[in-house]
Amino acid sequence: MFDKPAFAGHESAHHFYDAKTGLRAIIVIHSTARGPAAGGCRMWNYATADDAFVDALRLSEGMSYKNAMADLPLGGGKAVIWGNSKADKTPELFRALGRAIATLNGAYWSAEDVGVSVHDMAYAAEETKYVAGLPTGKAASGDPSPVTAKGVFLGIKATALRAFGTDDLDGKHIAVQGVGHVGAYVCGHLAKAGARLTITDVNPEALAAVAKDTGAKVVAPDEIYDIAADIFSPNALGAIINPTTLPRLKVKVIAGGANNQLATPDMGEKVVEKGILYAPDYVINGGGIINVAAEISGTYEPAWVEGKVQRLVQTLGEVLDRAKAENRPTNRVADEIARQRILAG
Ligand code: NAD
Repeated sequence: MFDKPAFAGHESAHHFYDAKTGLRAIIVIHSTARGPAAGGCRMWNYATADDAFVDALRLSEGMSYKNAMADLPLGGGKAVIWGNSKADKTPELFRALGRAIATLNGAYWSAEDVGVSVHDMAYAAEETKYVAGLPTGKAASGDPSPVTAKGVFLGIKATALRAFGTDDLDGKHIAVQGVGHVGAYVCGHLAKAGARLTITDVNPEALAAVAKDTGAKVVAPDEIYDIAADIFSPNALGAIINPTTLPRLKVKVIAGGANNQLATPDMGEKVVEKGILYAPDYVINGGGIINVAAEISGTYEPAWVEGKVQRLVQTLGEVLDRAKAENRPTNRVADEIARQRILAG
């Protein structure tokens, strides 16, 4: 672990193998400085075990930053299962994952992530109490997407305020990539605020449903980068701001819920050069982890969640303002604040 470029002072890494179920899982704890490490479990058919490990290292560090920016009493961690989420899932596999999580005695809290559903994690929860984001239970927080989307919508307004001098989205043209769990709710909020939408997705049913509800114009997946609009809102994949796509963008703002939007950190400088204001992804999309944190706390209080989301939007504003005052990319400023918060514990 120590000589990998993805190593960022991580506290520990734990490899699990269960012969009976075939579980191959890695749980990485980046930091517990602010509280128990929290972050979802991803199931992915990695090419090699090393790829799985590096992904877990990166993702767990990202969770430390996200949790710190959402001002949660949580550190960062992540679990990855090396396997095919379409073919290899069984209740027993997830029960074995639950037993693996249990061995960490609460140093790591899990939840669902790419390739893993709330129902899968319910099996893990049969073996350990350190699983959140569940559909049922005393403090169950359910699907985090509506809260993520609310934070993204408020974050788009906060970013618009800095870019256009007003947070009124009435008549603003917004190009939305991805209308899945988060994107569909984001589109709903934007349409209600009077925005004109152009949307895309690779799922025709999801696209048709959102177009019908919001009156959005539909374009093919690759066309979204060429739309002349006020705002580009990525809510699908990572690494979509890269040397190929950035020159095509004709927008003033990038603000959306997708994780890891910048292909590399230096895209932050390139975005500034192009005169675009970027809302750092792990700040604007922290609503979902706030929702999960409410469940981890043991009592789900909607007012606490709402307060934390409002505070998150203020934090996003502070990042954008400091970046402007210091003439630096917003992602660099967010990283710096997150690291300071983690160091302060
Ligand atoms: P989802 O799978 O429900 O939605 C993603 C959508 O993107 C799907 O409709 C999919 O068809 C579409 N898509 C895939 N490839 C595409 C492409 N090439 N072009 C256009 N659309 C494409 O996932 P989600 O839960 O809505 O999450 C969306 C993003 O937000 C992800 O990056 C996720 O990591 C991030 N995120 C989600 C949450 C949450 O609460 N769900 C929280 C924080 C961050």
